[in-house]
Amino acid sequence: MHRPPEPHRRDGAPWLVVGLGISGRAIARFLQHRGERFVVADTRTAPPGIEAFREAFPTVDIHLGDLEALDLQAFSEIVVSPGVDLQKSGLAAVRERVIGEIALFARHCKAPIVAITGSNAKSTVTTLVGDMARQAGKRVAVGGNLGDAALDLLIDHPDAELFVLELSSFQLETLKGLGAVCAAFLNLSSDHLDRHGDMAGYRQVKSRIFDKARHVVVNAEDEATWPEDTSIPCECFTTKAPADGMWGISPLKAGEWLCHGEQPLMPVSELRLAGRHNQANALAAMAIGHVIGLPLAVMRQVLGHFAGLPHRGEVVAERGGVRWVNDSKGTNVGATLAAIAGLGETLAGRLIWLGGGVGKGADFTPLAAPLARHAREAIVFGQDAPQLVAALAPHVATHRVDTLAEAMQRAASIAEAGDCVLLSPACASLDQFPNYLARGEAFRAFLDQGPLEPGQEAAC
Ligand code: ADP
Repeated sequence: MHRPPEPHRRDGAPWLVVGLGISGRAIARFLQHRGERFVVADTRTAPPGIEAFREAFPTVDIHLGDLEALDLQAFSEIVVSPGVDLQKSGLAAVRERVIGEIALFARHCKAPIVAITGSNAKSTVTTLVGDMARQAGKRVAVGGNLGDAALDLLIDHPDAELFVLELSSFQLETLKGLGAVCAAFLNLSSDHLDRHGDMAGYRQVKSRIFDKARHVVVNAEDEATWPEDTSIPCECFTTKAPADGMWGISPLKAGEWLCHGEQPLMPVSELRLAGRHNQANALAAMAIGHVIGLPLAVMRQVLGHFAGLPHRGEVVAERGGVRWVNDSKGTNVGATLAAIAGLGETLAGRLIWLGGGVGKGADFTPLAAPLARHAREAIVFGQDAPQLVAALAPHVATHRVDTLAEAMQRAASIAEAGDCVLLSPACASLDQFPNYLARGEAFRAFLDQGPLEPGQEAAC
């Protein structure tokens, strides 16, 4: 197994941990567990969670505010949380001594790693692979950008024989030589361009997942996911009929089947997950499972039971013939396109789309055509509502409000039986909510409060 080498360490000097969020706490806990000395810093002067951190690490020095006030040469190594922007924080100048939480994880991890990235579907595929491995009897630890931080997994699951990690572009930015037994890059669509500059930069960061991988799993329909190093054994998935050796969907006599080349694996109708995008996710999970030697019968069983994670295309209510769907995790244009395509074709009525928030520099124009085809109205809210209006209003009835609550009132007042109200914002939530979970919970809470029958306004 390839692993990154131990870097040159400054003997006796403390470590610096940058960032006081979930990852920062996990890094601090890990260093403490190993008996290392460290200082913690955060560029924010009042980061949330600081009190809880002080309580957990009462003897650790904490530096708040500009990092330039610190002598960065005095530290042995600098471990950054994924949220920290190296350019903006001034750490780019000492980059050779900066490592990320995942590099630290890889340095100490003794078991094989399955690593999964992509603009969308990471959590769904990671959860599926984790469930499949567990069901197959493996001692597996699942986390990373989802659930438990990777370093917490190392402490809490010392006997794990497999780690399945979801990795974000922020986590991959500082990563070298991961050496995954299987590295999957699921899809690439515009996201986080405010951090990565442009699509080429974003793709390059994501491609770090392939570094020293033994196998890769990529999307045959999305060339941006293919590795430059073509010598690594590769499994490809597609939602079309698969070529020899590929994972795809074939129309057979008994209906559509997930197939590996010509071998039928399971009927699409047996999947509990809905939509073409989730069929792609099922295939990706099976391809990864195949690489790590999981039995087909187990994978099929898991796919037959898995109903999806909350906030990802979740039907929250059915009122007066109107379905209310929470896809708050649709935080970029690619995810929202998949959600609209997945739902649009199945509706008796029309779609009422709720979107908006922080667009992260994305181009919203790809939403115009599918919304024109499927939507009664696009209701937009939040910080980047003006950009959404500019992209959509020439093509589809577009209504601007300030908040999600107002968007839901508006939706209730225009919905007709057979319609579907879809919250899939194509944006991050941080202008109005702590995170996408809180936004999805607010959607559910508004529905719990009022009747929201078609043509009625709710008190929200
Ligand atoms: P991630 O962890 O990458 O955000 P999730 O599994 O949480 O991925 O799904 C996030 C959103 O991405 C979902 O709400 C859905 O709208 C969308 N999505 C799911 N699968 C796909 C796919 N294969 N392609 C594009 N979008 C998808």
